[in-house]
Amino acid sequence: MGEFDFIARHFRSLAGEGAMELRNDGATMRLSAGEELVLSSDTMVEGLHFLPDDPADTIARKLLRCNLSDLAAMGSRPRHYMLNVSLPAGRHYDDGWFAQFAAGLAADQKQFNISLLGGDTTGSPSPLMLNVTILGTVRQGEALRRDGSRPGDGVWVTGNLGRAALGLQARLGRIDGVDEALVQFYRVPMPRVGLSLYGIVSAAMDISDGLVQDCGHIAEESGTAITLFEEKLPFLPSVKAHMTHHRELILLGGDDYELLLTCPVEKEAALQAHCSERDVPVTQIGEVTAGSGVKMLDRRGEPIQFSRTGWQHF
Ligand SMILES: [Mg+2]
Repeated sequence: MGEFDFIARHFRSLAGEGAMELRNDGATMRLSAGEELVLSSDTMVEGLHFLPDDPADTIARKLLRCNLSDLAAMGSRPRHYMLNVSLPAGRHYDDGWFAQFAAGLAADQKQFNISLLGGDTTGSPSPLMLNVTILGTVRQGEALRRDGSRPGDGVWVTGNLGRAALGLQARLGRIDGVDEALVQFYRVPMPRVGLSLYGIVSAAMDISDGLVQDCGHIAEESGTAITLFEEKLPFLPSVKAHMTHHRELILLGGDDYELLLTCPVEKEAALQAHCSERDVPVTQIGEVTAGSGVKMLDRRGEPIQFSRTGWQHF
């Protein structure tokens, strides 16, 4: 099949305003006065970020949602995305597979009010590689950052933790008796788009590599230290059920796509009110102090010794 037919069949119907039906060398995107662009990019590789027999629509949705989560972390409203596909020959990624993949994109375009602006497709000698660059907007100067936490701030997290880490291990057949909903959450996470936390939180990021490692990024960028309290971490009962045997896996997590926030004490009420209006649970899990590094204290106040910190990219 030719590249142009392929794009027309699967992606033309996803093209939004400014994409000019994917018939030109590029696309346009309109910005209002006082807005600026927020851009983020994420790649998923077969065998590394998804398995060849994962449903194609869930792969598409996860790809979009990881990117949407990065925009949420920046306090940005998502608008469009670009899609790059590097397609290996002679595999099961045929027309039927891409029809299901595009259906996943279409479902999330609707849910998150975004559209496709362009991209590229190419053959590849490697596994299937999927890349999305997402484009969002924010009022000028109001993007959230990782470097604003100050000693005395509280550390907060949206939603709950550990679901995807357990879901992945269940998917790989390494842990039995895991609630199927956790596997589903691993495949299709829920990015926290739609909050407006500029002027409330002092630092923000999304949790993709795991709570402790990602707290480390905020601490390092801010020049502060973070102390987390194990007993304050929010877990579903279906996650807590595995705590005895898989405590480190659950505490270090990964793939949560919740927001990790630091908030000055005088803004805590505003943070809780804002999240509650949008039905987003938010929990204080720790505090920012002077110094460097991240530690987690158990219920006796003793630092927990971990054998690793989180997901390693290389
Ligand atoms: Mg991120």
